Amino acid sequence: MKYDVIIIGAGPAGIFTALEVIRHKPDQKILMVEKGKPVDKRHCPKAETGKCMNCKPNCMITTGFSGAGAFSDGKLSLSYEVGGDLPTLIGEDFAQELINYTDKIYLEFGADEHVEGNYEGEEIKEIRKRAIRAGLQLVNCPIRHLGTEKAQQLYLNIQNYLQEKGVEMLFNTECDNIILENDVCRGVRIEDKSGVREIFGDEIVIATGRRGADWLEKVCQENGIAHKPGTVDIGVRVECRNEIMEMVNKVLYEGKLIGYPKPWKNKVRTFCQNPGGFVAQENYDNNLAVVNGHSFKDLKSENTNLSILVSHNFTEPFNQPIAYAQKVGELTNMLGAGHIMVQRYGDILDGKRTWAKELAQSNVRPTLKDAVAGDITAAMPYRAMTNIIEFIRMLDQVVPGFASGETLLYSPELKFYSNKVKMDTNLNTNIGGLHCLGDSSGWTRGLMMASAMGVLMGRKLLEKEN
Ligand SMILES: Cc1cc2nc3c(=O)[nH]c(=O)nc-3n(C[C@H](O)[C@H](O)[C@H](O)COP(=O)(O)OP(=O)(O)OC[C@H]3O[C@@H](n4cnc5c(N)ncnc54)[C@H](O)[C@@H]3O)c2cc1C
Repeated sequence: MKYDVIIIGAGPAGIFTALEVIRHKPDQKILMVEKGKPVDKRHCPKAETGKCMNCKPNCMITTGFSGAGAFSDGKLSLSYEVGGDLPTLIGEDFAQELINYTDKIYLEFGADEHVEGNYEGEEIKEIRKRAIRAGLQLVNCPIRHLGTEKAQQLYLNIQNYLQEKGVEMLFNTECDNIILENDVCRGVRIEDKSGVREIFGDEIVIATGRRGADWLEKVCQENGIAHKPGTVDIGVRVECRNEIMEMVNKVLYEGKLIGYPKPWKNKVRTFCQNPGGFVAQENYDNNLAVVNGHSFKDLKSENTNLSILVSHNFTEPFNQPIAYAQKVGELTNMLGAGHIMVQRYGDILDGKRTWAKELAQSNVRPTLKDAVAGDITAAMPYRAMTNIIEFIRMLDQVVPGFASGETLLYSPELKFYSNKVKMDTNLNTNIGGLHCLGDSSGWTRGLMMASAMGVLMGRKLLEKEN
């Protein structure tokens, strides 16, 4: 059995590749290989247990049909300025065109018509003025918010559609390696509970997400796929009361602020702002517990959370950003006895740990109930920690009260974007018939950009067919 297209990873990048191809050429034989479960079989036990159960063999939050998208907040960033570096590869205008096109597909499958962050009143001018004074760049990005609970239904609609159109899906099946013949990729080696086998296809698309970034780096090294170490982000998830964030939440919905604090002037930015949201834990395969955040469409908390991320690049003699960030995460997990650690900003400035009883003395109460009060500075590298403290001071000029002593900082928040696979504008790697997409390729960092890259991949595959 030989397929026209084999897609490894059924996250947004892989899904939109399949969608674009099958909608325009229904006779294409497409196989999707996914190590997790179908979207309707995914269920995070935390809803009942109240704490992360570290599911084996795979985390329910990040694996399965729709990838990290199903249980994600489902915030679709509708501007090319947010979500990754794809625009630098294909051009900003074209990237925006792809996003607009992809957005229409999301609407067809049930996304909410409403777009947040299109506000154009006086308040936005005021926020920009404050940002300029603070030395911060303000990026305003309209957002279509699916909401965690609605995202699952939307992706189920897509899963059903693809299956009805004859796209084959192998779940609980993991890709182990690619099959090469003279620098051309002929297929993949896959493993499920019945064992290892080889399957062959004309075009192989790898879209394994952040979760598969380590694995893809190994595959690149073993098979001579041209790539370079990318960036890794180390940071914290910050949580404060909605009242503090009120104006930014109302006007921008998701305000992206970027700064280069002294003395190193590294890029530091806000990311993934969740008004009325909840702080969440996710676990990577190697038992690494990292913090994230999301918000439901209907259920709201009294807090807003967002992450502050510090970009790290390495050159020589060390060039393994993923390993570096993992060590920071492991150290933090060790100090938190396997849990996410939380500390008050004021305690960091005072050079003391936070105690659980002190958390109860604040206006802001942690929405991640099993986070452990402690000292995140004992595990955070000095440079990253100083960048975060300075950036919070800058943000306080835009959002008065943000640098309050009771503001909560959860750690570790790590974003692995490393291993940028070298690709041309047709999304070809240096290996014939092999393409790498989405977050695992290092070119995207979000639902919409990963989906749009999938659409582009689909179009390129269709061009090859014609
Ligand atoms: C809790 C959380 C909240 C988020 N919220 C948002 C948000 O609001 N907005 C936003 O834009 N982004 C958000 N993100 C990020 C977003 O989900 C990702 O950027 C996006 O899903 C990337 O899509 P992808 O297709 O590249 O990879 P993924 O969605 O990660 O999908 C990759 C798939 O590949 C599978 N896989 C991995 N390795 C293998 C293998 N070897 N063999 C077979 N299958 C494999 C995985 O199981 C997974 O299903 C969030 C992420 C998380 C974890």
